[in-house]
Amino acid sequence: MRKRKKVVIANWKMNYDFYETTSFIRNFLKIVFERKINHNKEIIIAPSFPFLHISNQISQGTTLNIAAQNIHHTDKGSYTGEVSSYMLKSIGIQKVILGHSERREFFLEKNNLLFEKIKIALKYNFNIIFCVGESFLERSKNKQFEIVKSQLEETVFRCTSDEVKSFYIAYEPIWAIGTGKTATFEEVQIMHEFIRSLFFDKYGESVSNRIYILYGGSINDLNAKDFFSQKDVDGGLVGNSSLKLDKFLRIVQS
Ligand code: PEP
Repeated sequence: MRKRKKVVIANWKMNYDFYETTSFIRNFLKIVFERKINHNKEIIIAPSFPFLHISNQISQGTTLNIAAQNIHHTDKGSYTGEVSSYMLKSIGIQKVILGHSERREFFLEKNNLLFEKIKIALKYNFNIIFCVGESFLERSKNKQFEIVKSQLEETVFRCTSDEVKSFYIAYEPIWAIGTGKTATFEEVQIMHEFIRSLFFDKYGESVSNRIYILYGGSINDLNAKDFFSQKDVDGGLVGNSSLKLDKFLRIVQS
């Protein structure tokens, strides 16, 4: 079976100005390479739009990748205030987070719009970090498997097996995001195994062995190791704890 490396993604959301972004990335790279803690790992940071270009320039020639937190579902046109994959591609960005629960909740992004975003991201050869996850109410009714399955069926599973190679799936139970509450390690492993089985049923063994499934939801430097050691957890999407350099370094080292 193909061995998957671990992937750690920092989602900085609407945090950090120019100075904070650039000094974090410079210091992070310095320490990561001094301590050689990037071995067999993929590390991705998603800063805000205005700082993607400089962040990408700083990390040129290193193994750090920079991702956008969103894109518009078309390439250009009269969409005041929006940013497209066509623009991001021209500054060397190759990865994007789509389907984050904050986009779904505050910007009312539904699965059909997310599929449009997926199509345009694939057109520009982006890697897509696609988030799925249930609400607290859905979990309390034991509907989490049904919800995650339908989120995938209406979006990612409309892609071909070749296109699916461009995805990382992030399982993020909404009730665990930014709340300090986490799903238990067993709950996470069970959901990840379920997601991998859906990929198996849809695309077969090689795709299901290869697809990266990350956990997100109140990961910190104390619990990261236990999450990352679950069989089907290939790493994490980290919000709050990625904003402190020492914490994020400890998570990467986990
Ligand atoms: C996120 O927003 O993707 C996330 C996982 O946030 P936090 O780590 O703060 O829960």
